[in-house]
Amino acid sequence: MNRPQQITVLGATGSIGLSTLDVIARHPDRYQAFALTGYSRLAELLALCIKHRPQVAVVPDERAASQLQADLRAAGLNTEVLVGEEGLCQVSSAPEVDSVMAAIVGAAGLRPTLAAVNAGKKILLANKEALVMTGDLFMQAVRRSGSVLLPIDSEHNAIFQCLPRDFSRGLGNVGVRRILLTASGGPFRETPLAELEHVTPDQACAHPNWSMGRKISVDSASMMNKGLELIEACWLFDARPEQVEVVIHPQSVIHSLVDYVDGSVLAQLGNPDMRTPIANALAWPERIDSGVAPLDLFAVARLDFQRPDEQRFPCLRLAREAAMAGNSAPAMLNAANEVAVAAFLDGRIRYPQIARIIEDVLNSEPVVAVDELEAVFAADSKARMLAEQWLSRNG
Ligand code: NAD
Ligand code: MG
Repeated sequence: MNRPQQITVLGATGSIGLSTLDVIARHPDRYQAFALTGYSRLAELLALCIKHRPQVAVVPDERAASQLQADLRAAGLNTEVLVGEEGLCQVSSAPEVDSVMAAIVGAAGLRPTLAAVNAGKKILLANKEALVMTGDLFMQAVRRSGSVLLPIDSEHNAIFQCLPRDFSRGLGNVGVRRILLTASGGPFRETPLAELEHVTPDQACAHPNWSMGRKISVDSASMMNKGLELIEACWLFDARPEQVEVVIHPQSVIHSLVDYVDGSVLAQLGNPDMRTPIANALAWPERIDSGVAPLDLFAVARLDFQRPDEQRFPCLRLAREAAMAGNSAPAMLNAANEVAVAAFLDGRIRYPQIARIIEDVLNSEPVVAVDELEAVFAADSKARMLAEQWLSRNG
């Protein structure tokens, strides 16, 4: 029998990380966790190490490392503990590793994900921010290293499943007219606009259909998540922004669709549970049990669709504009959004100010070319600094 595939789970303590480990544990003959990484909630990381027995764990600093090392020893494990971004890059590119689940949230996941790409690993990409920031450079690195890139975002995984195998020949050449990206519309789809001034972080994080980390939950409420996904789709499927249409579908049962020139529209459906796209990408091109219950269409009963309202969701417009502008614009959009969302979650700003910060940051800087990684990091830092200045002026 073949040895189980060795999987590094970046962001193992997060929502995607935990779902990934759930699927891995269902198939011990096929998969084995090689490395688990965590940034906070280190007691949970310890419990995950005891359960999944990885070779390596990665924590943010030396203090956390000595604590975890001592706890692991006490539990009878000799897991190696590595530290910081260097440790993350090491477990992403280690020769023993077959696949890397990139599930760190935000720009912090960029370097480790790129390390996995450059080492030619199979990449299960949840960390959409990494691709949004670096777009072309990321895709060039994938082509150069020959690494297999599989989308975990449920929409992109759905599109991937609805496209023909040879879609990289170009969407036009495989008969695709457009991609329809579905969105639930989040918790504020019908909230009166005037009330949005007063919504709280907990309300923003109470997603009607999905249980996720707090940053992506706020992004879903503002629909910045869909904006980032639009940019993500353009890079993954070599589409132009105008070939991607966003459709609000409140039930979150259709995860996205592909519209072909002959009038066929293919969709992927399923219960809203990230274990489906995770299992799909882990086993691709095979299929394995994910633990997700079968879809009960009689219980779903109906599927609704609406056009998104950009007055309600200005972040969607800002992301589309950044997608059209390209170059440094997506990295700046992402960085300003990360600062604004963190400030909202900390109670420093009101919800509508998230979009205002991003728009002001984008308007105050010209778009510049980003033909190397350093230029992406410069755009990211510049946008963070401008967003912080906005906060000190208005906070
Ligand atoms: P989460 O907040 O639940 O987990 C984030 C993980 O990243 C945790 O393990 C945390 O310890 C780690 N982390 C945070 N900051 C870090 C840092 N500075 N350095 C190293 N590690 C750090 O988030 P999530 O919901 O699991 O989302 C993870 C990624 O997957 C995001 O990019 C998100 O957009 C994407 N995604 C999530 C879902 C979902 O359903 N949760 C769906 C689609 C895409
Ligand atoms: Mg998604």
